[in-house]
Amino acid sequence: MESKRQTMQKQIIFDAVNSLKNHPSAEDVYRYIHKKYPQISLSTVYRNLYSLAQDGKIKRLSTLTPERFDHFTDEHTHFRCNRCGEILDLFIDLTQIILEQMEKDSFEHKVSGVNIVLDGVCKDCKGLK
Ligand SMILES: [Zn+2]
Ligand SMILES: [Zn+2]
Repeated sequence: MESKRQTMQKQIIFDAVNSLKNHPSAEDVYRYIHKKYPQISLSTVYRNLYSLAQDGKIKRLSTLTPERFDHFTDEHTHFRCNRCGEILDLFIDLTQIILEQMEKDSFEHKVSGVNIVLDGVCKDCKGLK
């Protein structure tokens, strides 16, 4: 069972991911809450982020370095700008296409999710010389 304090910390961290929106890293979340809640350590932030991801309340984007967390939990694809590092949501669900293809190929392993990040240059950076 989680103590009352643990439940509160988890809620604070969940709220931070929701407010930050743009796929924060654990460090981003830590910096965001640190002013108001200096007693919450970076390792507590990590532990709660993983726990929230396990509960399905947020998504853990482990293919990114550093890994990021997403408040938006529906299946979607990501686009990462090589210049500014911005991570954008693309509302395309490629999961179904991939799973169908795997079925055709008689893929024997268990897929638990699809984590796709497209690389490129975002529209803001594209105009910069
Ligand atoms: Zn950019
Ligand atoms: Zn996203």
